[in-house]
Amino acid sequence: MASKVFYTDLRTDPDHHLLYKLEKLVRKAGIGNIDFNGKFTAIKIHFGEIGNMAYLRPDYAAVIVRIIKELGGKPFLTDCNTLYKGWRSNAIDHQDTAMKHGYTPFAVGTQVVIADGLKGLDYVEVPIDGEYCKAPKIGAAIAEADIIVSINHVKGHEMTGLGGAMKNLGMGCGSVAGKKEMHSASKPRIDTESCRGCSLCVKNCASHAISLVDRKAVIDYN
Ligand code: SF4
Repeated sequence: MASKVFYTDLRTDPDHHLLYKLEKLVRKAGIGNIDFNGKFTAIKIHFGEIGNMAYLRPDYAAVIVRIIKELGGKPFLTDCNTLYKGWRSNAIDHQDTAMKHGYTPFAVGTQVVIADGLKGLDYVEVPIDGEYCKAPKIGAAIAEADIIVSINHVKGHEMTGLGGAMKNLGMGCGSVAGKKEMHSASKPRIDTESCRGCSLCVKNCASHAISLVDRKAVIDYN
């Protein structure tokens, strides 16, 4: 079934700023028709990596939190830990990062809960019997929530072309173990026929995992 898409432009005046327009947009899209009463509502978001400025400002999250609370829900802001090393690979660093980016209870009106726990080991296998994945390992706090709302920015992505709501949910709700499964299904490979042995990939591989064997590039997946 085709989705109904609502959007607004970025034009503003003092009485119609972006936060006002966000509220108008989600109300028009029907957020008031959802039964939030007493329900744990996971607001899935990306809090931004340290040094990265392209994350949603907490002001937007605060609008969504306020509306869900007005509708009787129990919202919390959430994400799962990352597989890669950085400042979101365990719950403590992740919460510190969220706080540094302004996601404090005072600013957004609710708590940050890292869905797959301290070390990314808290997950629930949700059976979906999909073609590629039978039971993704979803962060427990997200899997146990009654309702999930995605708020996210749009970005370019090397595999999907574009990252948005589907990626925020599909990949982002995976626990560390779940992300490992997703990533291990897609690996770079050498088209040996076309390889002319220039060794550019050998010099530039960040993991030093490529070597030349008989003038053809070979990847060490380990
Ligand atoms: S050595 Fe690496 S970069 Fe050069 S042609 Fe082969 S695969 Fe491509």
